[in-house]
Amino acid sequence: MPPSALVIDDDVDIQLLGKMLLSRHGFEVATAGCLGELARKPALLNTNLIVLDFGLGDFTGLDILDYLYDLKINAPILLLSSCNNETAAHAIAKGTSKGLKMLGFLPKARLMTGLSDFIKQIESSPKPPTVGELAQAIKQQHICLAFQPKVSLMTGTVLGVEALVRWEDPARGTIYPDNFIPLAERSGLMVPLTWCILELALAQLSAWHTRGLPLSIAINVPAEFVKAENMLSMFDELCAKHTIDMTKVTLELTESVGVECLGYARHILEELRKRGCKLALDDFGTGYSSLTQLYRLPFDELKIDRSFVSLIDSEPSAQAITLSIVELGARLGMSVVAEGIENADQHAILAKAHCPIGQGYFISRPLSAAVFDEWLQHQMTMAKRA
Ligand code: C2E
Ligand code: MG
Ligand code: MG
Repeated sequence: MPPSALVIDDDVDIQLLGKMLLSRHGFEVATAGCLGELARKPALLNTNLIVLDFGLGDFTGLDILDYLYDLKINAPILLLSSCNNETAAHAIAKGTSKGLKMLGFLPKARLMTGLSDFIKQIESSPKPPTVGELAQAIKQQHICLAFQPKVSLMTGTVLGVEALVRWEDPARGTIYPDNFIPLAERSGLMVPLTWCILELALAQLSAWHTRGLPLSIAINVPAEFVKAENMLSMFDELCAKHTIDMTKVTLELTESVGVECLGYARHILEELRKRGCKLALDDFGTGYSSLTQLYRLPFDELKIDRSFVSLIDSEPSAQAITLSIVELGARLGMSVVAEGIENADQHAILAKAHCPIGQGYFISRPLSAAVFDEWLQHQMTMAKRA
């Protein structure tokens, strides 16, 4: 298959010129004139190269990078602009610090002559990860965790974190889960990967508890892991090794678990609950059989998918669905977490509807353990002052 490229520019002449030049290098080229067009056709972003005009309509360059970051864009990004070198360098540093692959800056005036240097760079850049590399990364401990705070929407108290896996590859930098979890699922590596994640998560939980911080931790586990051989005895061993209070551990399962986890797996989930672990139903509302899961399996917590939460301040139907889920959780005696809260309006709507727990960029992005410590310290200082 030929490589693909996407040219994002509101200037149709630049779109056409970019398309012509990239086609000469063997790329299949798509174009977009504004971010609205991308939002309507997100598949355009599944591409091998993004050539991005740095000043599009109402957005500033940094807004555009935030947008691409939020969509976890993995393709290299070449900035194309009439801005000065200093502005471009600042944007590249900002994008890189967020984990975006910033290829460089090409002034629009040099588009005709300068593009081929960047194409050579792409051709020699690292290829997508392979199964062998992922297996090595697990062995060599290149897997690490980011921690995203979960807070009480009533009091603001930090209740705990969700552990989110990252792959720190020496050549490629940070690789996000959407770029390797599907690979792990396809290749039978999900079980060893999940043991590696649990080891890191429980070690961190234990360190917080030793320091007197009563945090809880939520860990994403696939259905396959629940059914893995000796799962319970190995889990008990791991908890004993880190002297874990299991009531502080939540295992997040997605709706597919209800399809796959009947019989034996249900027994394992019940055993885990007997030990005090909590079970959360993640991404609630996105599957095709959500409501059935609620009485089929013993869940303690519902996590409302961020595709609903992100629209509650703009789409009345998304708001109605979200608030109904909050009420449903309350009626079932379950804890409810709204994930993906991105602004103050969404936060206020959820708090007013008595949604107990929130998570999202408005509260905090996922953080490394060291940055989370600083963040927590700051929150505790602010709470004392209030
Ligand atoms: P999830 O479990 O639903 O995790 C929440 C995802 O939403 C995280 O993405 C988080 O960074 C992102 N997020 C949180 N707040 C916001 C927000 O306000 N706005 C937006 N746009 N996004 C927000 P991440 O870390 O890239 O993880 C993506 C998915 O990959 C996770 O979705 C989960 O399904 C999977 N995953 C992550 N870590 C693990 C893991 O340790 N094990 C397994 N099995 N899956 C994992
Ligand atoms: Mg989750
Ligand atoms: Mg989720």
